[in-house]
Amino acid sequence: WSPLVNTQFFAAWIEEIAAAVRARRDHLTQLDAAIGDADHGANLDRGFTAAQEALAGASPQTPGALLVLVGSTLIRKVGGASGPLYGTAFREMGKAFGEAAEISPAELSAGLNAALAGVQRLGAAAEGDKTMVDALAPAAKALAQAVRDGLKPEEALEAAAAAAEQGAGATIPLQARKGRASYLGPRSVGHEDPGAASTALLFGALKAAASR
Ligand code: ADP
Ligand code: MG
Ligand code: MG
Repeated sequence: WSPLVNTQFFAAWIEEIAAAVRARRDHLTQLDAAIGDADHGANLDRGFTAAQEALAGASPQTPGALLVLVGSTLIRKVGGASGPLYGTAFREMGKAFGEAAEISPAELSAGLNAALAGVQRLGAAAEGDKTMVDALAPAAKALAQAVRDGLKPEEALEAAAAAAEQGAGATIPLQARKGRASYLGPRSVGHEDPGAASTALLFGALKAAASR
């Protein structure tokens, strides 16, 4: 972004997410097959496809309105755990942006903190519980640090995406303490958490949207 981002940027983010989820749908489903019920890829593909359709139909005029619509659509169209959690994340980010037409790096960072807080309020997962929080929390922290350090937007988003990737990979040796995977107890060890993997895709898509 240069350095402010607008509604078009967030529309591009959702397009990049939908494309990434479609491309990685089977992979996400395989991760969920190992420690869940093998629907994570299908859930998110359905949700972000519906989100894109909703945006095309409604043409929201601010970043906040766009993200609230995405979140509401995810809550409506994606069942299970991840629909309400991701839906809340996007809605909270949208609410944090209010009516602003343009979003600064610091505001984007604050929006991601609001998203994380919403996910944790709803799902009560801490870092290390082997959930999407294990990718979202380090990514939000990395972006906040990058903004404080005054990094260029592309570098800041690169740092956030790298932190999300690393956080997702770091779920492999963990035992799940939240969600379906926690029913497996110690048998959840040795597999990457599907929600942490999809959160890493979301941050990769954010970086991609910024370099368009
Ligand atoms: P379901 O488990 O209902 O089939 P999904 O497969 O779409 O839903 O999503 C599973 C993902 O949701 C998990 O991999 C995990 O990252 C995330 N998740 C589950 N429960 C929680 C929770 N309480 N807090 C945060 N994330 C969670
Ligand atoms: Mg599942
Ligand atoms: Mg399910």
